[in-house]
Amino acid sequence: MQRTKIICTLGPASQDYTVLKEMVRAGMSVARLNFSHGDYIFHQKAAQLVREVSQELGKPVAILADLQGIKIRIGEVEGGGVELLPGSIIEMLPGEGVSTAGRLFVRYAPLLEDLKVGDDILLDDGLLKLQVVEKSQDALKARVLEGGVLRSRKGVHFPKTETTARTFTEKDKRDLEIAIGLGVDYVAVSFVRDAKDIECVQEWAKKHNLNLPPLIAKIERKEALEHVAEIAKASDGIMVARGDLGVEIPVEMVPVYQKMLVELAKEKGKIAIIATQMLESMREATRPTRAEVTDIANAILDGADALMLSAETAIGKYPVLATQVMGAVISATEHFLVSKIPTFYKPQGILPEAIVFGALQAACSVGAKALVVFTYSGFTALVLSSFRPAMPILALTPKEETYRRLALVWGVQPALLDLPHEAESVALLKRAEELLLSRGIASPGDPIVFVASSPFLGYRNLVRLHRLGES
Ligand code: PGA
Ligand code: MN
Repeated sequence: MQRTKIICTLGPASQDYTVLKEMVRAGMSVARLNFSHGDYIFHQKAAQLVREVSQELGKPVAILADLQGIKIRIGEVEGGGVELLPGSIIEMLPGEGVSTAGRLFVRYAPLLEDLKVGDDILLDDGLLKLQVVEKSQDALKARVLEGGVLRSRKGVHFPKTETTARTFTEKDKRDLEIAIGLGVDYVAVSFVRDAKDIECVQEWAKKHNLNLPPLIAKIERKEALEHVAEIAKASDGIMVARGDLGVEIPVEMVPVYQKMLVELAKEKGKIAIIATQMLESMREATRPTRAEVTDIANAILDGADALMLSAETAIGKYPVLATQVMGAVISATEHFLVSKIPTFYKPQGILPEAIVFGALQAACSVGAKALVVFTYSGFTALVLSSFRPAMPILALTPKEETYRRLALVWGVQPALLDLPHEAESVALLKRAEELLLSRGIASPGDPIVFVASSPFLGYRNLVRLHRLGES
């Protein structure tokens, strides 16, 4: 059993039924559709493949749609690439034009408002560095500090600048509508600055009568670091987006923030995801580096719910192998170090907590082999998971949506409950026992704890201790 979940980004390397099936077999629980790439047809086909594979394997797989947000880029570059010479002075303008070695167009409308003399400009993930030396009404002048070849559509970062633009772009609005139409289970919002960026998405969806799935706020902008608590509160989870974050802030600060961000999210019972370059070398190689394997193990020990693969599974040579390696590291780390996985959860003063707390105490004192939770919305299962119990959590739900969403939650094994509404509670317990046996979670005679906080087939606020097979 793997408690920490695996998110795989889909792309040309994994847009295939057999490959995807092997990835799910290897432990993938969530598919990320990256709306920075691919068109409608691509995402639609990917979503359909995920649903088919999930159905065939009888394993829930959640779909996470990742909106591009205001990723700042330059547009086309003359001839595809130009060399920026160290010491040269370059004019910079906001807009869509074709850039040359003397003049760069940046796709960021408030460029002239936001940047000041002395600010740094990083191009291509920090490979090239410029500094603003002069500012006029219609352009900036910048000196090249670290030169090199600049190619079309490379990313731009302003590490010293307080950027003001909001992230939810017109493209994001169109993509969100498409994603909701495809029935995705989570939406990730990129380049969030503060809680308002999350609220904007919620308000827009409400205004357009769209049924918004839970939101994951990607923390990848330095402005967000000052507002993490309010961002976590406004959303359903956060992602430590180490790719862009590592350019926005000094790269040596990434591990420090990774730990702080996971702790902050888990304190509030929100989902925490760690992303980017987890198995980067496996884009090309069949074996990971020792450092990558150790990074995965440490991310588990930081307390994350899920770890994400990006290029490794989207465009890498070995999408299945990369997923298998991540799964193997999760199994090994949890097998030996499960007791070292921290519980950061701080009681929020909500009803399910009391029930869950009682269930956990009971489970610990009798040495229960499993916790079985009956849930409609999945909330009780999420609270239970937030306490990071060492025993498996079997979550039974009649709602397909909950069944899929819980695939992302740490330690939770979701199962669909196909009982009629008027079923007797005895039938419910019996079904749970069958599942525990068939999945090899528990054997006859093993102590089990059942828990339900909202009314569920006649049960309410239930904690029940039970020996398997002895009803
Ligand atoms: P991206 O986000 O892959 O969409 O850029 C993750 C990150 O920046 O780490
Ligand atoms: Mn990013």
